[in-house]
Amino acid sequence: MASRNLSRRINSLLVKHSRLASQRRALSALAELPETHQMMKKTCRDFADNELKPIASQIDKEHRYPADKVKAMGDLGLLAIAVPEEYGGTGLDNLAYAVALEEISRGCATCGVIMSVMNSLYLSPVVNFGTKDQIERFGTPFVDGKKVGCFALSEPGNGSDAGAASTVASLEGDHWILNGTKAWITNGYESEASVVLATTDKSLKHKGISAFLVPKPIDGLSLGKKEDKLGIRGSSTTNLIFDGAAIPKENLLGTPGMGFKIAMMTLDGGRIGIAAQAIGIAQAALDCAIDYATTRKAFGSPISKMQAIQMKLADMELRIESARLLMYKAAFLKDEHKPYTKEAAMAKLAGSEAATYVAHQSIQILGGMGYVTDMPAERHYRDARITEIYEGTSEIQRLVIAGCMLKDYAQQNG
Ligand SMILES: Cc1cc2nc3c(=O)[nH]c(=O)nc-3n(C[C@H](O)[C@H](O)[C@H](O)COP(=O)(O)OP(=O)(O)OC[C@H]3O[C@@H](n4cnc5c(N)ncnc54)[C@H](O)[C@@H]3O)c2cc1C
Repeated sequence: MASRNLSRRINSLLVKHSRLASQRRALSALAELPETHQMMKKTCRDFADNELKPIASQIDKEHRYPADKVKAMGDLGLLAIAVPEEYGGTGLDNLAYAVALEEISRGCATCGVIMSVMNSLYLSPVVNFGTKDQIERFGTPFVDGKKVGCFALSEPGNGSDAGAASTVASLEGDHWILNGTKAWITNGYESEASVVLATTDKSLKHKGISAFLVPKPIDGLSLGKKEDKLGIRGSSTTNLIFDGAAIPKENLLGTPGMGFKIAMMTLDGGRIGIAAQAIGIAQAALDCAIDYATTRKAFGSPISKMQAIQMKLADMELRIESARLLMYKAAFLKDEHKPYTKEAAMAKLAGSEAATYVAHQSIQILGGMGYVTDMPAERHYRDARITEIYEGTSEIQRLVIAGCMLKDYAQQNG
């Protein structure tokens, strides 16, 4: 009897062991990226160093959309990284997306946000919820940067409270008629299509929101002013104003009432992207600080010899690396089709707070030179700030994290 029990336990250990092998592979991906992803990182870093870093300051000063760089990113497959190859995408995973976006944002935060909108906010809902015909019309023509898209959830009256959408869509014959204003839309000016969230049944509250694929230009859709922003100034941000815009019935994405779910799932993935953008900005700010600290002399030696500066460098590195590991974990869980809402929110929160902190300390290390536009530190500081606001503010990320924790607790404790 005892030996039978022992053999059963050994058998179950063997089963666990084979599962362990895959878990070990996952852990080693966190400690050291797989070779393919290391190559992706190197390619994107070279591209960012050679093509993006040299223009980042200029496009920021001129508030200029970097159309040629967007096209170059499209040619490299960076705007559709996780889109399957059958639809013209690059067919890689979300870890590759996170790794690539960090490097692009390290070179230029404006290019980072455009890349994140294309991958996470536009192509992802089109590909994940679209029919074959919708993907062919609204997905494939957008993968290579010849056309860009945008995602319109926020409104002047509701950002964090996304379920309170007051833009409405009503079905008249074969068309949906859209009325209302969408606010703060990244890529709004350049986009040739948009995923738009609008209420189709007010009585159902957030369950009455639907998602639509809206081509641009169309009659009844106009743009607001181009927002004059603190950072990521090369990207356009504007209102989309719908006044009786008619779109064909078949441009409904998913089913009626599915829009809020589509938006929340899209934002879960998007938060991995914003974590990557934030970590890239933070890394650029740290690179700038180390470089300066090792050459700037005060009291007869480089300031990097001073322990007060070393304490700052260590804290900066610690926050970046912690956030990066959270980001890898969230991306890995998404790739494994496991729940990752909490991890994506944690990665976004840690990444964006690291970016703000590191960019602040970078200016401090540069002293007066940190405060002027001759050096990139002040730009990193301005670019970092948005990562705590869009795709859910830091307060909202904390609510998401706590919500997941309490749900888990309730499940475990009956
Ligand atoms: C540059 C830029 C680009 C953007 N791009 C896009 C885009 O492409 N598409 C799109 O749809 N949107 C976009 N947005 C909108 C962005 O997602 C919203 O600004 C963001 O979600 C916050 O909404 P809000 O500005 O309405 O702030 P509000 O919701 O009014 O929040 C104001 C403050 O109250 C806090 N708060 C609100 N509710 C709670 C709560 N329940 N508990 C605790 N605190 C709370 C917030 O954290 C914040 O500090 C963009 C915004 C900017 C600035």
